[in-house]
Amino acid sequence: MEEYDVIIVGAGPAGTTAALYAARYGLKVAFFDTVDPISQLSLAPKVENYPGFEGTGFELLEKMKNQAIKFGAEYKFEKVLKLRKENGKFIVMTENDTYRAIALIIATGGKHRELGVEGEKEFLGRGVSYCATCDGHFFKGKKVLVVGGGNSAVEDAIYLKDLGCDVILVHRRDELRAEKALQNELFKRNIPIIWNSLVRKIEGSVRVERVVLLNRITNEETVLDVDGVFISVGIRPATDIVMDLGVERDSAGYIKVDKKQRTNVEGVFAAGDCCDNPLKQIVTACGDGAVAAASAYEFVKMMKG
Ligand code: NAP
Repeated sequence: MEEYDVIIVGAGPAGTTAALYAARYGLKVAFFDTVDPISQLSLAPKVENYPGFEGTGFELLEKMKNQAIKFGAEYKFEKVLKLRKENGKFIVMTENDTYRAIALIIATGGKHRELGVEGEKEFLGRGVSYCATCDGHFFKGKKVLVVGGGNSAVEDAIYLKDLGCDVILVHRRDELRAEKALQNELFKRNIPIIWNSLVRKIEGSVRVERVVLLNRITNEETVLDVDGVFISVGIRPATDIVMDLGVERDSAGYIKVDKKQRTNVEGVFAAGDCCDNPLKQIVTACGDGAVAAASAYEFVKMMKG
């Protein structure tokens, strides 16, 4: 069984930064990538708030991965299925192999949240999507509804509009959560917003044809004809993988970490969107990754004596 000083589960901004730092500390490190869950960064149509870079999330993540690999981190495109501790070391079972590590860094990010409404599952891939950058081009010239009021929903609405879709945004409150700079871009494009409204049902025959909306103030239902529904209502942390290790999570499933990105389990560190940190940004995920790698380095040094 191949042994590493550090194994990093995840290859988003937190995982790749941890890999870069761990490799530069001289540790033997591997970082594991998967499409389930895919890094949210790789889906970001435009990144404008990572200092020194402007471009797509995919471009930025590729640069991050390649930089970590250049400095000696081993990149493995293998889904990690199970983690356990055995004789003081961590066993990492993937879909292809089994590895051993002295320390673990969990950087698994999150998965998109679902609305949980009628028609959402049935029309997935037939008009319902959680990824504007993946599916937007199928909707050029068509009418789409974007659901949500956060950064991701507003970014998706802008991206789809610029692609040539006829976009409407629906938000459950009367105020967007997205940062001002993104809101300004949205307003500049005159994208209509349906306020205080929830999607109740997604309907159609073969593909999505319409949605039923509920106004939360008036309690009135309206029907809106659309060809697509892009759901962007946040993420839920992908942390089930740490359950067998006894890693503590908060009530929403985020891994509890201290200032050194240490979890309650010795030798297990966590970084990025899977943690209970207050800000979920690329730059903070990278910061978490660097801190987690420094802590893992100290831990490995101590373990090796
Ligand atoms: P988010 O910030 O959690 O926003 C989720 C949005 O969906 C909120 O507006 C929320 O409404 C709405 N929502 C949640 N559940 C809903 C439901 N069941 N029905 C209808 N609406 C619902 O999620 P996000 O936009 O995906 O972003 C995730 C994290 O990544 C955030 O911390 C965000 O700042 C960060 N991010 C940053 C950038 C950037 O910096 N450019 C880009 C993307 C994401 P309420 O507002 O009423 O709660």
